[in-house]
Amino acid sequence: MADSRMALRAEALESLLIEKGLVDADRIEETIAFYNERVGPMNGAQVVARAWQDAAFKERLLEDGTAAIQEFGFSGGQVDKLVVVENTPDVHNVVVCTLCSCYPWAVLGLPPRWYKDPAYRSRVVREPRTVLQEFGTTIPDSTKVQVWDSSAEVRYMVLPAMPRSWAGRAHDVLASKVSRDSMIGVQVLLD
Ligand code: FE
Repeated sequence: MADSRMALRAEALESLLIEKGLVDADRIEETIAFYNERVGPMNGAQVVARAWQDAAFKERLLEDGTAAIQEFGFSGGQVDKLVVVENTPDVHNVVVCTLCSCYPWAVLGLPPRWYKDPAYRSRVVREPRTVLQEFGTTIPDSTKVQVWDSSAEVRYMVLPAMPRSWAGRAHDVLASKVSRDSMIGVQVLLD
């Protein structure tokens, strides 16, 4: 229900902007297709694979995400201030936008439907372990779960932990194994 109301509002807004000559329909279609099909989460996966293989890059990435992804030519797309948070045995990170659906388009493409769902947005803050469980992700009690709330100013991406058995694999192979959900933090990568 909320979804279709949101879709109607978005459509109405789009029509209005076109009518007023503020944007054109082709440009909107192009933008959606670009982030959906050409960017997708593949950019983020490249970044993660590089961080796993290159300690100096990983340091730069955690220090300043926006600057580090520019080394790949990734910019714009809602990442003026990208903060990358690393999963470790001590902390598991998960990303949400409680207010709406802020998301780092330039590295992850367009957000999945569930990311925009009011239930995910409110529940992941209150009961993150339960929500993660519903994604099939069990975080050990000894690991702290940290929820990051995105905003118009700051976007987050999770640097997932690499399964040990993947060590030594080629960059492209690693990148192909990094899922979108692992970079949002609702999934842990397994062998
Ligand atoms: Fe938002």
